[in-house]
Amino acid sequence: MQTLGHFINGKPVPGAGSRSLPVFNPATGAQSKQVAVATKDEVEAAIAAAAAAFPAWAATPPLRRARIMFKFKDLLEAHAKELAELISSEHGKVFSDALGEVTRGVEVVEFACGIPDLLKGEYSENVGTNIDSYSVRQALGVCAGITPFNFPAMVPLWMFPVALACGNSFVLKVSEKVPSAALRMAELLQQAGLPDGVFNVVNGDKDVVEQLLHDPRIAAVSFVGSTPIAEYVYATGTKAGKRVQALGGAKNHLVVMPDADLDQAVDALMGAAYGSAGERCMAVSVAVPVGPVAEPLVQKIAERARSLKIGPGSDKEAEMGPLVTAQHKEKVEGYIAKGLEEGAKAVLDGRGLTLQGNEQGYFTGATLLDHVTPEMSVYKDEIFGPVLSVVRQPSFAAALELVNKHEFGNGAVIYTSDGDTARAFTTGVLAGMVGVNVPVPVPMAFHSFGGWKRSLFGDHAIHGREGVRFYTRLKTITSRWPTGIRKGAEYAMPTMK
Ligand code: NAD
Repeated sequence: MQTLGHFINGKPVPGAGSRSLPVFNPATGAQSKQVAVATKDEVEAAIAAAAAAFPAWAATPPLRRARIMFKFKDLLEAHAKELAELISSEHGKVFSDALGEVTRGVEVVEFACGIPDLLKGEYSENVGTNIDSYSVRQALGVCAGITPFNFPAMVPLWMFPVALACGNSFVLKVSEKVPSAALRMAELLQQAGLPDGVFNVVNGDKDVVEQLLHDPRIAAVSFVGSTPIAEYVYATGTKAGKRVQALGGAKNHLVVMPDADLDQAVDALMGAAYGSAGERCMAVSVAVPVGPVAEPLVQKIAERARSLKIGPGSDKEAEMGPLVTAQHKEKVEGYIAKGLEEGAKAVLDGRGLTLQGNEQGYFTGATLLDHVTPEMSVYKDEIFGPVLSVVRQPSFAAALELVNKHEFGNGAVIYTSDGDTARAFTTGVLAGMVGVNVPVPVPMAFHSFGGWKRSLFGDHAIHGREGVRFYTRLKTITSRWPTGIRKGAEYAMPTMK
């Protein structure tokens, strides 16, 4: 069986430790590979390589760093299908969705290609007589990324292209459930011309995270995953003096007003609730119909969800794939059972789904729970599966209050045809990413991604200008030159070589 290792100092490293973890194909339920857990020495080697590579990389002109990003973007595009197949085979999401994830990641690389412009500082002439002041943003050092299973390529790509373009070196630890895409991206970065040691991948689980959080050479940590771990990583990393951004879980609500275009709202809910089997931090897991729209909304979703095409990621017709692991399927189905015990009404119950030819796969069907109330665990907790809860509300004010009282504040959406209602929602809602008649308001790469409340710990959202701020620190220089320095005349157009 293939054992995946690490990528350290410009080379694939097979993994010397005795521990490894199984990697499954969620569509068949069979173990397809195993991934080595990095030893202390291997993590140490990755951090040491990144620390050694940092000074020269930070001193490389941003334009040259950007040129490597341009090449990396081309290589990612040329290998997009291969990456999407790797993602689909380990995560389970359907191929078209996996390809979409790669594209959203490539967009961050495109953003990072603009780093010479993004790093421009400010300049003030004559802050005092013959004294000028200017500010620059400089790289932090070695940055670490710790990422979740649900976006094996896109979430790492939210982080390292911006970090590297800013002049940092990087150590990435992806989810042990989906290790292949990151290792392939490390090879592509090297092919793009990135110097050895600037980007490293170490595989493993919490022990590797602990080592990264405690090593004094790691200057900053970007984390994306569940809220309990995000909170722990934030507390531990900041206590150790590191800059930390830790993005956590979500429970995204979609409010449907009586004046909304109902078919549009139903389309939105179908994709946002059941796309990627609900394993997205921007999935909509709560529909909040206001007033009389509840009955027709529930009916229409049920009709559509019954005919959802569920299948393995490799099936081009499939709209929804399996869940990531057997344990996760058990957890999701456990929540459905608990919801029913607590009084929710199952309009559709996806438990017990078996697909012919994929009997051992981790499939759960689309589930629609109506008459859910805020006290129920299916409402309070992030389920991270294809389970849509409907919480009926009598008015816009009650709907907004419901959204705002939830512990998470990642995304929130309203469907309405009234501009005043939309404005009241966007102004008053306590969430970081808000949609108006847009189902999954994931900000593009040149904006920044991040939630509020217990969906993000730290002061910076990810990628976009917030990413550049996170991965750099400000320096302001005030200078006076009593004498000028003269260079000889140059006749050729000055260029960067
Ligand atoms: P997870 O928290 O279990 O794992 C995330 C990372 O932390 C992995 O690399 C894992 O190896 C590591 N880890 C796990 N347990 C640890 C521990 N005890 N100590 C240290 N490290 C540990 O998350 P997951 O199940 O892989 O991903 C799903 C979660 O990620 C969901 O909650 C989802 O909402 C969240 N997520 C959030 C965003 C966002 O942008 N807010 C994006 C994607 C996913």
